[in-house]
Amino acid sequence: MKTVLMVAEKPSLAQSIAKILSKGSCSSRKGLNGACSVHEYMGTFSGQSVRFKMTSVCGHVMSLDFIGKYNNWDKVDPAELFTKAPTEKKEANPKLNMVKFLQVEAKGCDYVVLWLDCDKEGENICFEVLDAIEPVMNRPYGSEQTVYRAKFSSITDTDIWAAMTKLGEPNRNEALSVDARQELDLRIGCAFTRFQTKYFQGKYGNLDSSLISFGPCQTPTLGFCVERHDKIQSFKPETYWVIQAKVFKGKESPLTLDWDRVRVFDREVGQMFVNMTKTSREAKVESVSKKEKAKQRPLALNTVEMLRVASSSLGMGPQHTMQIAERLYTQGYISYPRTETNHYHENFDLKGTLRQQANNPFWAQEVKALLSEGLNRPRKGADAGDHPPITPMRAASEGELGSDGWRLYEYIVRHFIATVSQDCKYLQTTISFIIASEGFSCSGKTLISPGFTEVMPWLGIPLEEAMPVCERGDVFTVEEIKLVERQTSPPDYLTEADLITLMEKHGIGTDASIPVHINNISQRNYVTVENGRKLKPTNLGIVLVHGYYKTDAELVLPTIRGAVEKQLNLIAQGKVNYQQVLQHTLDIFKRKFHYFFDTIASMDELMEVTFSPIAATGKPLSRCGKCHRFMKYIQAKPSRLHCAGCDETYSLPQNGAIKLYKELRCPLDEFELVLWTSGSRGKSYPLCPYCFSNPPFRDMKKGMGCNECTHPSCQHSLNSLGIGQCVECEGGVLVLDPTSGPKWKMSCNRCNVMVHFFEHAHRVQVAQESCEACEASLVAVDFNKTRSPLPDGETQHSGCVFCDPVFQDLVELKHATMRHPSMTRGGGARRGGRGRGRGRREKKPKDKMAALAAYFV
Ligand SMILES: [Zn+2]
Ligand SMILES: [Zn+2]
Ligand SMILES: [Zn+2]
Ligand SMILES: [Zn+2]
Ligand SMILES: [Zn+2]
Repeated sequence: MKTVLMVAEKPSLAQSIAKILSKGSCSSRKGLNGACSVHEYMGTFSGQSVRFKMTSVCGHVMSLDFIGKYNNWDKVDPAELFTKAPTEKKEANPKLNMVKFLQVEAKGCDYVVLWLDCDKEGENICFEVLDAIEPVMNRPYGSEQTVYRAKFSSITDTDIWAAMTKLGEPNRNEALSVDARQELDLRIGCAFTRFQTKYFQGKYGNLDSSLISFGPCQTPTLGFCVERHDKIQSFKPETYWVIQAKVFKGKESPLTLDWDRVRVFDREVGQMFVNMTKTSREAKVESVSKKEKAKQRPLALNTVEMLRVASSSLGMGPQHTMQIAERLYTQGYISYPRTETNHYHENFDLKGTLRQQANNPFWAQEVKALLSEGLNRPRKGADAGDHPPITPMRAASEGELGSDGWRLYEYIVRHFIATVSQDCKYLQTTISFIIASEGFSCSGKTLISPGFTEVMPWLGIPLEEAMPVCERGDVFTVEEIKLVERQTSPPDYLTEADLITLMEKHGIGTDASIPVHINNISQRNYVTVENGRKLKPTNLGIVLVHGYYKTDAELVLPTIRGAVEKQLNLIAQGKVNYQQVLQHTLDIFKRKFHYFFDTIASMDELMEVTFSPIAATGKPLSRCGKCHRFMKYIQAKPSRLHCAGCDETYSLPQNGAIKLYKELRCPLDEFELVLWTSGSRGKSYPLCPYCFSNPPFRDMKKGMGCNECTHPSCQHSLNSLGIGQCVECEGGVLVLDPTSGPKWKMSCNRCNVMVHFFEHAHRVQVAQESCEACEASLVAVDFNKTRSPLPDGETQHSGCVFCDPVFQDLVELKHATMRHPSMTRGGGARRGGRGRGRGRREKKPKDKMAALAAYFV
């Protein structure tokens, strides 16, 4: 019997699709990587009985990166990244072991049906999957088709079954357009980012960013925000004057009229008009007009519009909105949420879709009315040919979706109902008045029929007081005429919704990438998200954009990116050659890079104004081993030490606190040691600022503290403070934390294991001798007289922390703190650990001197 392998984009999708296609009769098992399941069932495929095997990947299988040495910032000239540096596809998440998993499942299969999401990324993943499985699948018989692609827009019985009966082929061109975009973003982004990060970070102390990134799309996105900021900054408010008139008739309450001249910018002119007008106490009705107007129902919903509304009305950022929408899609509640289409096909089952919403109390009434009176045709929008507009596919209740899920779903449903509802109709009444010789008017709206605003009440016509009944020639009495002084106001910062509109208008970013770019510029500290989801650029964001404008405006204008994205679309349509687009675009940016490199000084001038030179920032902390002057500790990220005397910068571990460590010096280079602490309950260890960046021994890596230093005689090194092999990880050594008293602890220098022992001891020392049973170093402990836990009032004892019976109750081996829960999952349990210490005998710990061996070689 032949086997058909089927692959979806995510585990939950594989499960839903398998359930539909097997009519609920599939059997499921976990795959070898633990993350993906395999669902199997019997069925028929092109007329023969077969076994179906449905499984999934977890998004992209592969990701693009430079090979080996080109990932080293210090060893490669960034200019080489444009063409010279070779790239390779690596597994996107090596832990998932996805290629191996796919190959194990595909071995011996005869056909493959690709159920990846139906967008360009999904098409690209199709070929990643095929590259992995084709070598192990059974050879096709003759020229028989063995690779199929399913096209679907929602996870519903109808859609999935329709896709299964109408299988096509994967689209190589769409996949190539994604490859091209990945390669361009990688090469251009890395070259500019590496160059400017290294250039500026070495120079300025208060530059609060560990990465000064450039992205061919991200940077123009930031450009829009800064452009608005500049407009606000250069705005000069102007004073203007308006005449306000209040009139009334009989006993009705007074009307406030608008001046036909709107406003004047000269106070005296304004006063002149007031004086003229004030001569009359009567306002004469010149004309009364009544016009029926309509407020149009919305176009069907596409991604960009959903993101805009979610940000402006629901207060949900684009990235978050997309995550929720994808979950709703995966669970079958809505159709595919990445689409440019806002037009329904002729044969889309609008009525069936609407009927599903007839029982939800929130909108049942409107839906039932529509079903009995008949649906209105949705407005004609644009059909991108990808998917239907975002549409609810299944009824849901608040309880099953969760708070944000429900809010987004509710919006999507209301929007859908609105698209098949009538327009809102209202009557606009305008009354024109003459006072002396000046014209005034007032207007108001009266609702005729609410139409779609019944289900989208926030778009309804605001209730106004009724307009007075009157006709031409009627006379009102003037109650008050006055000159009011006002000021023009500056524009506001861009909201996320504004930014999305601008990106869409200039053709940069797609529905898939807009949320990513907006997220990036706030994550990287170029803008902050203020109240009302307004995007306010930071100093860094402003200086960068101004700098690009000054050197090469095209780096920040959306024009080039817009043109490149057009080319990428042409690749997807098979109209242009993939290699040519790539070469041409890289050539342009390579030339831009060289120009940028040569003219960086002009960007630097702007930086100098905003940021302080590194020598002028930070607080003196520890002494330099070369010139013996105090170095300054720069706390802004990334935190560093800078020696002004030698003009050298030394990196430090991040995400913790740094302080001076007892004014002790590194025996190798005389630099004063500093102590790094990750927090009150976390790890801490001393380190030498020089050795941290310049490892003294061949077997050490950059970024190591004294707890990993293999110096044979240093009193802070692994040799002096190491106790024994880690209880959790391979190759780690438990090192006494000499600063941890009175709550003494030792912590592993590789993993996150921490062991507490000997509370209230006033001294804990690691001895030269080691345990005969387990080879761990012996520890000498000195307790307080009053609080000694030792028998017979003794205060001193030395022994092995793992084997010594006196120590057993004083060592909390079983409480080894593991900060990454992943470590406790799947076979990571302690080797043999049956009780404190005892299990250690089963596997002898390596002599810690073995770890030092490399030094003596
Ligand atoms: Zn120095
Ligand atoms: Zn050192
Ligand atoms: Zn050291
Ligand atoms: Zn460890
Ligand atoms: Zn021992």
